[in-house]
Amino acid sequence: MIKENLKRILNELPPGVKLVGAAKTRTPEEIMEAVEAGLEIVGENYVQEAEKVFSQIGNRVEWHMIGHLQRNKAKKAVKIFDMIQTVDSLRLAKEIDKQCKKIDRVMPILIEINSGKEEQKAGVMPEDAIPLIEEISALSNIKVMGLMTMGPFTGNPENARPYFQKTREIFEELKSRNIPNVEMRYLSMGMSNSYKVAIEEGANMVRIGTKIFGERTY
Ligand SMILES: *Cc1c(COP(=O)(O)O)cnc(C)c1O
Repeated sequence: MIKENLKRILNELPPGVKLVGAAKTRTPEEIMEAVEAGLEIVGENYVQEAEKVFSQIGNRVEWHMIGHLQRNKAKKAVKIFDMIQTVDSLRLAKEIDKQCKKIDRVMPILIEINSGKEEQKAGVMPEDAIPLIEEISALSNIKVMGLMTMGPFTGNPENARPYFQKTREIFEELKSRNIPNVEMRYLSMGMSNSYKVAIEEGANMVRIGTKIFGERTY
């Protein structure tokens, strides 16, 4: 099933749109099945879970952190991940930068936008995104490569459209500003129920779990 699901999704994604397989709660065997069917990027929400599956699957795929990263996990995270999609504060960016300096690498990151301006949600408020990115751009072991957003949870994907549009606007504004050490290449938006709308609104990276692996059982 996983193989068929993955191939179907890969076939229907427009050229230039990258697929991140959102793998939280999935076993290494399930993830491997997707990798064998052509999945190139695995997204994980927790450092501990990522460590376990990474030790079995390794560098044949890219690993992206798509869950909120706690600062005290940054040291481990920079050893596993090829991209951290969820940076939303200068404090977190500084910690990632510091840990990357120690192991002499530059971490590609996305800035997470709280496009629904929801109190409890992670992400920087839309109006604070550009000033934050200007500050982060001064850090030498981090490179901002784009934006990520979740948007409010909604049953109907049409309801997510305005939040994707808002994030796209910030993306385009940042592109036009040409901030040194900032490259607006990736716009990561859309999940199983909303990725088609997200692609219509400019996403070039989608994060899909359920539609690849089936319903999650915790
Ligand atoms: C779980 C998750 C997804 C994928 O969700 P599905 O609805 O299973 O496709 C995407 N992005 C993030 C950040 C997630 O935690």
